[in-house]
Amino acid sequence: MPGVSHALFNAARQYIPGGVNSPVRACAAVGAEPLFVERGLGSRIICADGENLVDFVLSWGPLILGHAHPAVTRAIREAADRGSSFGAPCRDEVELAKAMVDALPGLEMVRMVNSGTEAAMSALRLARACTGKTKFIKFDGCYHGHADPFLAGAGSGVATLSIPGTPGVPAAAVADTVLCPYNDLESVTNAFSAHSGNLAAVIVEPAAGNMGLVLPEQGFLEGLRELCTRHGALLIFDEVITGFRLAYAGAQGRFGIDPDLAVFGKIIGGGLPVGAYGGKAEYMRHIAPQGQVYQAGTLSGNPLAMAAGLAALRVLRDSDYAALEQKVEDFCKELAAIFKNRAIDVRINRMASMFSIFFTPRPVRDFADAKTADTDRYARFFLYMRERGFFLAPSAFETAMASFAHSDEDFLSFLKAAAAFAG
Ligand SMILES: *Cc1c(COP(=O)(O)O)cnc(C)c1O
Repeated sequence: MPGVSHALFNAARQYIPGGVNSPVRACAAVGAEPLFVERGLGSRIICADGENLVDFVLSWGPLILGHAHPAVTRAIREAADRGSSFGAPCRDEVELAKAMVDALPGLEMVRMVNSGTEAAMSALRLARACTGKTKFIKFDGCYHGHADPFLAGAGSGVATLSIPGTPGVPAAAVADTVLCPYNDLESVTNAFSAHSGNLAAVIVEPAAGNMGLVLPEQGFLEGLRELCTRHGALLIFDEVITGFRLAYAGAQGRFGIDPDLAVFGKIIGGGLPVGAYGGKAEYMRHIAPQGQVYQAGTLSGNPLAMAAGLAALRVLRDSDYAALEQKVEDFCKELAAIFKNRAIDVRINRMASMFSIFFTPRPVRDFADAKTADTDRYARFFLYMRERGFFLAPSAFETAMASFAHSDEDFLSFLKAAAAFAG
C-alpha cells in the first residue's frame, strides 16, 4: 500500500530518535525516507508499501545467503523451541567457535559477544592488556563500531591529530587513537616512530567497507604485519564484513596474512545479533576467567544466534565463492562500461561479492579519494534504481553486497536499468 512506509516513519519519529535504530537507515544522505520492510526472501525484500526490491544492502553484510535461507530459519526455529537463553553454555557455542577456528587460518580461540562494536572494543582492551601499551593506530574512513576510542576518523587524516568524530566522545577517549590514511604505509611507519614504544595495536579493515569499498594495495597489509611484529604491537583485523565474505577463510585466508587478533560479526550470526573476537591462544588466554582481562555478556553465545550462525557457516562451507565472485566481476565490468560509454566518470571497486560505485574520475584508494565522489549523482542513481526495483545502500560511502541468492536475472535487469539511467 502506497504511503505505509511514510506513515510508519512519521510514527517512528515520535518514539525513536530520527525514526530509526541506526542512522544510515534514515536514507537522508540520498534525500529519501527509510524503507519499512515487511519481509525478505532470497535476493528480495518486500516493503510496507508493496515495493518488491532486489536487495544489494543485505542488512549491511550478514545475509550472504540471502533473506530467510531455509537452513538458517529452520535452525532458528528449532533453537527457539528449545529455549532462547540460559546464561549457561550450550553446545552450539562450541560448534560455532570450532567452525570459525577451522575456517580461519589465524584463529586459535574465539570469544562470542553480541555485536561487532563489542568485539572491537574488547579486542582493543585485550591488545592493551597484552602489550602494556595504550595507543593504537586506526585508519581514516575505517569503521570499527561505535565505541568511543574508534570514533576518530572523521578528522583530517593527519596521523598525529585525533579529532572526536561526535559530541559525547571526550577528547581523552580518542587521545590514544592515532589516525593514518588507508594504504599509506609511510604514515604508519612515521606513527610508529612518533609514538615509539607506546603503540598497543594497529586495527584495520583488511578490505575497507565503510568508506565505500577500498581495497588494500599490494604490500599494505604485509607492511602492517611487519611493522607490528617489529614494534611489539598487535595486528587486529576487523573482519566484521570480510569474514566469510571475501572467502570462507576470511580476509586473512584470502590475503595470506596472519593477524594476532581478529574481530567478527555480521555473517557469523546468520542475520541474528552477534559478534566475536579471537586470535592467537597466547593472547586470548588472558581473557577472564582464564586470565585477568574482564569481558562479559548476559546474552553472549546466545543459543538462537549460535544456531543461526552455525547453520549459515555449514551452508557456506560448501558454497561456490569463486562462482559468485566471477558473476559479480562480470557484472561490475559491464556496469563500468555502461557509464564510461556515456562519458560518466566512474570507478567501481570490487572484490568477491562486494562492490562500490564511485562517481569520480580518480582511483579510490583511501577516504580522501572516496570523498571526491559526486554524491548528488549517487543520490539520483539510488532513487532511480529504487524506482525500478533495486535497493542500494543509501549512501555514496557504503558497499554494495551481493549474495548467493542473487540470480543472473537480478544482475541483468540491474544493468538494463543502469543503462537507462546513464541515458
Ligand atoms: C558493521 C561493522 C562493525 C560494527 O558491527 P555492529 O554489529 O554493527 O556493532 C565493526 N566493524 C566493521 C568493519 C563493520 O562493518
